[in-house]
Order: sequence, then structure tokens, then C-alpha cells
Amino acid sequence: MKASQFFIRTLKEAPADAEIVSHKLMMRAGMIRKLGAGIYNYMPMGLKVIRKVEGIIREEMNRAGAVELLMPVVQPAELWQETGRWDKMGPELLRIKDRHDRDFLIQPTSEEVVTDIARHEIKSYKQLPVNFYQIQTKFRDERRPRFGIMRGREFCMKDAYSFDRDVEGMQVSYAKMFEAYTRIFKRLGLNFRAVNADNGAIGGTGSQEFHVIAETGEDAIAYCPTSDYAANIETAEALSLIANRAAPTQEVTLVPTPGQSKCEDLAKFLKLPLDKTVKSIVLAVDQEAGPQLFLLLVRGDHELNEVKASKVPGLTDFRFATEAEIIDYFGTPPGYLGPVKTKKPLTVVADRTVAQMSDFVCGANQEGHHLTGVNWGRDLPEPIIADLRNVIAGDASPDGKGTLEICRGIEVGHVFQLGTRYSESMNAVYLDEKGQSQPMVMGCYGIGVTRLLGAAIEQCFDDRGIMWPVSIAPFQVVLCPMGYDRSDMVREAADKLYQELTSAGIEVILDDRGERPGAMFADWELIGVPYRVVIGERGLKEGQLEFQARTDTEATNVPVAEVANKVI
Ligand code: ATP
Ligand code: MG
Ligand code: MG
Ligand code: MG
Repeated sequence: MKASQFFIRTLKEAPADAEIVSHKLMMRAGMIRKLGAGIYNYMPMGLKVIRKVEGIIREEMNRAGAVELLMPVVQPAELWQETGRWDKMGPELLRIKDRHDRDFLIQPTSEEVVTDIARHEIKSYKQLPVNFYQIQTKFRDERRPRFGIMRGREFCMKDAYSFDRDVEGMQVSYAKMFEAYTRIFKRLGLNFRAVNADNGAIGGTGSQEFHVIAETGEDAIAYCPTSDYAANIETAEALSLIANRAAPTQEVTLVPTPGQSKCEDLAKFLKLPLDKTVKSIVLAVDQEAGPQLFLLLVRGDHELNEVKASKVPGLTDFRFATEAEIIDYFGTPPGYLGPVKTKKPLTVVADRTVAQMSDFVCGANQEGHHLTGVNWGRDLPEPIIADLRNVIAGDASPDGKGTLEICRGIEVGHVFQLGTRYSESMNAVYLDEKGQSQPMVMGCYGIGVTRLLGAAIEQCFDDRGIMWPVSIAPFQVVLCPMGYDRSDMVREAADKLYQELTSAGIEVILDDRGERPGAMFADWELIGVPYRVVIGERGLKEGQLEFQARTDTEATNVPVAEVANKVI
């Protein structure tokens, strides 16, 4: 590729709404351009990286025996009514109508459609197992789209769905996907960790998330450095570990946080019977009264029945607090946003909410050291994470093999054991060897393709720009000729090297734009191409080129003939 025939546009400054480094650098490097909140154009340079990521995912999915198909972005509401998700999903689901006033939606995920395919196409045990996957546009009307394409509203996901005869089969399919994901994230050159997770809105029996470790991650992970234990802090299990350790205190401060529910919402909710505006729930223990559900936060995407009260150890009975009780307990009406002191000791046992929860309330004692109550969600502020570190530091881990630590992560993949949640509600059955009808046992597996770009940058950058891992860089090598338009010697050498590298299968871009060296180098360092070769008359006279990896601090002279070997 010659730069003059490609599209390159870099910016000196990132736009004001770019908060984290990956968003800033993607904007400055001209990879993406914002069209609306959470909606981005993938510009040519960014699309190249997306295609690379997709390529690796596709290869590994195929290697694992999955079969690619493509399901419509626009899906009829009827299928989603069959599983109940049409009503169950809140405003994150983008609903639209056609000219005949019929209901449709833009897919946020595709369990319903793929199960519809399975029930029509799969009749016999002989056709199982099968794993269908697609790499397709998704839309989720996120409450807080941010960080560029890391949390977009429109984004690209690889989603796969396995169908098996029985639970054992599903576990085999799940294990294959787990292995494929591990290979994918290794090939992408990322530092990642698989953690136990909650199934959230999607339902099913068990799941694990893959997190890219980064300080800017929206999730918090409890892990043990000396064993395999790792769990998303959202899980009841991880929270109860923390809560068990936290000492109950007399005084609890409710810390107001951005995005917390408004007073009116909460008050309104408490007067209403439970409905689907409930966003999240705190399960709290009153030391005197025993386990009970204490506080509710409202306005969300999910229904109460997603709350896995049964998952909370020791919680056999729960009920909802009335407004009067909340006033009695906290000395203030529900939803009060300032600091309050509780009249009674409060220990949160666990918070089981939904994966997408973004409101939370957290309690810490007056010294701010021991966390006595937490309702986890997005945007966990750093002081709270620091508290958590104090609380659990030195705690034995659940597997008895070490102590727990907390780090932040970016969820880039999620694998679920779905079981028969969808096949039963949609009657996706097959005939077994005895001719009996059985529900197919499903798993589903997502990877955030576009989110991965942001996650990779969060791990690979310096003050000059992006440092793409070679496997997903838009180009592997950039050739920077000094005077392409002025010097025949330079132009001929550059063109020749370009040909050689290209025919060796290396993706090379020749910068023939005629930029001054400083501007040219700054652009490529910002864009993050892993190798740069500078071609100048002086070096050429000695048969040398200047070679520098993006991770090197300085360039070295390399004989012309050896450049190809350096980058393969
Ligand atoms: P999150 O907790 O970040 O909201 P999720 O748990 O809702 O993600 P899943 O339903 O598990 O997401 O979807 C599979 C994958 O899709 C996620 O692991 C993530 O990598 C990606 N993904 C989800 N939401 C977004 C988004 N708004 N923008 C970009 N990628 C996303
Ligand atoms: Mg999640
Ligand atoms: Mg989500
Ligand atoms: Mg998830």
C-alpha cells in the first residue's frame, strides 16, 4: 500500500470527550470518528485493525470446529416474545417498527434467532453437536456509552452458539470455546485473565469472562496470584468473600456516586409494586433481624427475577424494605444523595444484580477503611477499590492456595453455559437414538471485536502513541523514504524494498506523501506501526537502511538485504 493511495489523517489533539488513552489515541490516529453518542465510523486505518482481529477470531473459531453464518441485524419481535426477553429487556434493547406497525429490534445478541434456526434445521441427534458463529453488528442502547468504541452503542461482536445433545456435550463444547478464546487472546498479544462470572440477563448455569488487565477497566476482579482463582467482583461468590471479611460497624456512610438513582426514582419505586424499572438490589444483613433484602435502587434494564437470592450464602429469606424502614434504618428518606449515618450496624452479604448494572451505592465506615456494604456496579471509584484492597488483602482464597488481590479489567469475552433456557422456551428439540424428543443443550460465547481495539491500546501505548501488537497492526512495516520525490536513488530503493516485502507477504505501507521527516515519524508512531524503515541517500551509499521497532528507543543501521528478515 502506498500512503498516497490510502487515507491517513492524524490529529494533534484528542477531542474533549475522550477520557481514556485508547479513545484519545484512536481519535488522534484517525482510526475512528464519532457520528453520534456511542456510534462511530470505522475509518480505513481502524478498519484494517478490526479486520485483523476478526481474522484471528475467525481462524480460531474455525479451528475449534465452529461454523460461520450471518443473522440479520434487524430481527422480528415475535421470537423475542417467545422467550420473554421482548418484555424483560429494558431500554438497552432498541425497538423499532416497520411501515406496517410491526415490532422489530436491532440485535443486541442473537440467542432467539439462532435457536429458531436450530429448531427448523436440526432434527436428529446425528446433526449434533454444532456450533454456529457470526461476526456481526450489535446495538445496545447503553445508558452511558463512553470510551469510544470500548463501550459503544453500535459495536461489532463475534457471537457463537453451541447445540448439544446433553449437558456433558455442552460442557465439551464450552471447554473447546474456552480453549479457543485463550488462543485468540494470546495471539492478539494481550495480558488477560479468565474469571468466574455471573450469567446476568442471558440466563443459564455458569459462565466465565475474559478480561484484559488494565487500570482503566470498568470491572473489578478478585484473583489469587498464586492459584487459578479469579472472579468478577460482581459475582455473589466474590462479594460474600469480601463481606465475610468486613467487620460490621456502627456507622455507615452512603457514598454518593455519579449515576446514582435520583430520589424521585427510588421513592416512586417504593410506592409501586416490583416492576421492570428495578435496576439493582442490595442484599443486606441487619445484625439483629437476620438476612433480609434491604435497599433498592431503581430505573434499570432488568427484572427482579434475575436476582439470584439463592446464590447468596445464608440468605434464605428476603423481603423489600418499605420507605418507613429505610428512614428508620438510615435516618433519611430513600435515595438521599448525601452522606448518612445508619442507626444500626449494616453488613452487606452480597449484591446480586445484573451484569449491566450501572447504579450503585456503597457503604464504608467513617474511617473509610472497612467496607461494610457494597452494591457493585460500573464506575467503582478508586477510593472504594483501595478500600477493597485493604479489606481483602491477606484473605485466604477460596481454593486455599494463596491470598486474594484486586485488579481492574476490561471484559473482552464471555462464555456461557446456557443449558435449555432457550431451547425449552422456543421448543428447539431433536430426536435422540431412541426416537425420543429432547431439548438441545446450548452454550453461547461472545467476543467484543471492536472493544478489543481499545483494550489492546490500553495495554500497548507510550507517550508517542499506539504500539500495536504485530498480529493486529494495520501495517507491519512502514517505509519512510527521505526525499521520495527528489532523489531517484531513494525512490528506486524504496520501491524495490516495497516490492520485495510485499511479495514476501509482509503488509507494508510506503509513505510517499512527501511529509517532512519529523511529521512523518510522528504520524507512524502515533498510528503504532510496529516497524519503521528509513531510506536515505547517505545510508544507501553504504548499503544501509535505518531500522527501528516501535518498542525500540533508537534506530539501528541494517544492511538493505536484511530488512525482510527483521520483520518476518
Ligand atoms: P459489559 O459488562 O461490558 O456491559 P456485557 O456483559 O453486557 O458487557 P456480553 O453480553 O457478555 O456483554 O457480550 C459479549 C461481549 O461483547 C462482551 O464481553 C464485550 O466484550 C462486548 N460488548 C458488550 N457490550 C459492549 C459495548 N457496549 N461496546 C463494545 N463491546 C461490547
Ligand atoms: Mg459484563
Ligand atoms: Mg452490558
Ligand atoms: Mg458479559
